[in-house]
Amino acid sequence: MKCVVILSGGQDSATCLALATRKYGADEVAAITFRYGQRHAVEVKYARRLAKRFGVKTHQVVDFGFYRHLTTNALMDESIKIERKAGAKCPTTVVEGRNAFFLLAAAVWAKSLGAKELHLGVSEADFSGYPDCRAAFVKAQEKAIRLALDYPIKVVAPFMRKDKAYEWKLAEKLGILDVIANETVTCYNGIPGEGCGECPSCRLRREGYENYRRNLRRA
Ligand code: ZN
Repeated sequence: MKCVVILSGGQDSATCLALATRKYGADEVAAITFRYGQRHAVEVKYARRLAKRFGVKTHQVVDFGFYRHLTTNALMDESIKIERKAGAKCPTTVVEGRNAFFLLAAAVWAKSLGAKELHLGVSEADFSGYPDCRAAFVKAQEKAIRLALDYPIKVVAPFMRKDKAYEWKLAEKLGILDVIANETVTCYNGIPGEGCGECPSCRLRREGYENYRRNLRRA
């Protein structure tokens, strides 16, 4: 096995999975999805479908049920409003430390599979301000994981410095525009495809799509 892709079922991770399978072949790619009490749990169903769609047979859904004992936020508790409070660095949807847990867990599994790469669809160019989506964190976590496991694993984040318009363009190039548009869940309310159109995640996705279309017209 060459790599493990952290697959949430959203646009970024689905595009990441498509890229990895194109590079290594589906048999050399494994995917891992985490259930942590997110209210858009429907994304787990979409993650399963996406793995199948891209021919990835080694897919594992891991239960992080402990998360609700540690913290809460608008993604895990429907009674919390999705918003960005005045002066706050990120919206109420931040799941503290999520990518730190995900990367470590995925790395433990990757080592057991003999895979030397972890692929993650985060971006610091076009994101909600989550600290664990930043390049500095990802680099530091990679180093920590290598030390923790004594294993030379590399974290690959192909979209770290790219925006959503780039991802849409890439989807077109890979011939998966329809899959990304209709078979992923990015919406915080768990509505697939275009989503609710209102939450910050839907807005980011739509703005990216509109920029991609605008660039096409200009080209
Ligand atoms: Zn939405």
